[in-house]
Amino acid sequence: MKTKDIIATEKKVILGTYTRPEFVISHGDGVYLFDTDGKKYLDFVSGIAVNAFGYNNKQTQAALREQSERLWHCSNLYYTQPQVELAELLVYNTFADKVFFCNSGTEAIEAAIKFARKWASAARGKENFQIITFNRSFHGRTYGALSATGQPKFWENFGPMLPGFDFAEFNDLESVKKLISAKTVAILVEPVQGEGGVYTADPEFLQGLRQLCDENNCLLILDEIQCGFGRTGTFCAYEQYGILPDMMTVAKPIAGGLPLGAVLLKDNIAAHIKPGEHGTTFGGGPLVTFVAHDILKRICQRSFLDSVKEKSQYLIEKLHELQAKVPGISSIRGKGLMIGIELKVDPGTVIKKCAEDGLLICKTGGNAVRFLPPLIVEKDHIDEALVKFENVLLTL
Ligand code: PLP
Repeated sequence: MKTKDIIATEKKVILGTYTRPEFVISHGDGVYLFDTDGKKYLDFVSGIAVNAFGYNNKQTQAALREQSERLWHCSNLYYTQPQVELAELLVYNTFADKVFFCNSGTEAIEAAIKFARKWASAARGKENFQIITFNRSFHGRTYGALSATGQPKFWENFGPMLPGFDFAEFNDLESVKKLISAKTVAILVEPVQGEGGVYTADPEFLQGLRQLCDENNCLLILDEIQCGFGRTGTFCAYEQYGILPDMMTVAKPIAGGLPLGAVLLKDNIAAHIKPGEHGTTFGGGPLVTFVAHDILKRICQRSFLDSVKEKSQYLIEKLHELQAKVPGISSIRGKGLMIGIELKVDPGTVIKKCAEDGLLICKTGGNAVRFLPPLIVEKDHIDEALVKFENVLLTL
């Protein structure tokens, strides 16, 4: 099929839930993607914070091949070794005692809401189920996760949303204190709001939420689906805040692009979840968990995480230099390799022109674009991206 035929057929047969640029991705290598016409793109999206090791990663391919020759799927009716080994790695490297596997970030949020409410029905009484989340947050597209998402534009014409969510202001502890009541059983928060515009939680804010949860017998649930697992320069983002959550949702980079999500939780919550109360056909299958183990054991290495921090510092410094040099940038936000750049010009135009110039970046909330390069990006790639970004800004 020719490029134009693929695009024309897509418009006929695929539900139009995405606005896609007019090229077709064919393959990838390292931090580069290539389209069907042979054009090369430096990828600063990495599958929306998924492809930490970029494309065509030999070690990931070897893991995939090895497990594919052994077992892909046999359902959660049976024990499998890769699932257990991945859970062990997660428990060893985080606050968690137990892990529940599912297929996506949204599913992890759905499960976390259920687990919080199940815990609350025993610990706090069935009539208490309110969860505080935040304006500008994003937690997913199914009804529970969507109802928890503090962006009304995503609810429009899909109502009614699920009851039981109250929305406070991000980084405003007083707004949380005003909302917290005897009915509140949990606070759900992204340490770095990704889709909402790349806003980083202040340390005092997350520490304050931890304290409020302790004082009110509530659970602190962190959504690290986008900011977790190396993206901010530590294995989990919460490590930079001196706090521990009670529960945490993860997904995106966990299995290098294969669908896998997880809820990490403490034993006091896990104790209330009994066989048959939650489940999934595919979640945590042997193929994805085997690959995820290979990915995560590399991400959690100190030297790897230090390299993310170093490249982050370099990228942020260079972006500030660019801001001083060219018009068009209002502010630079974010942590690690999760950077939001608030623009004075139309972000859609910037994204389009960058792609024409061979650089992929993506939109986030506000008037901002987002840089989410693969975690293996090198300083040379950052320089290359910034030359392209600068050229685009200079044309607007
Ligand atoms: N939570 C956060 C913080 C996210 O960034 C996303 C996706 O962007 C989700 C939840 C939903 O994850 P998924 O798209 O894997 O369902």
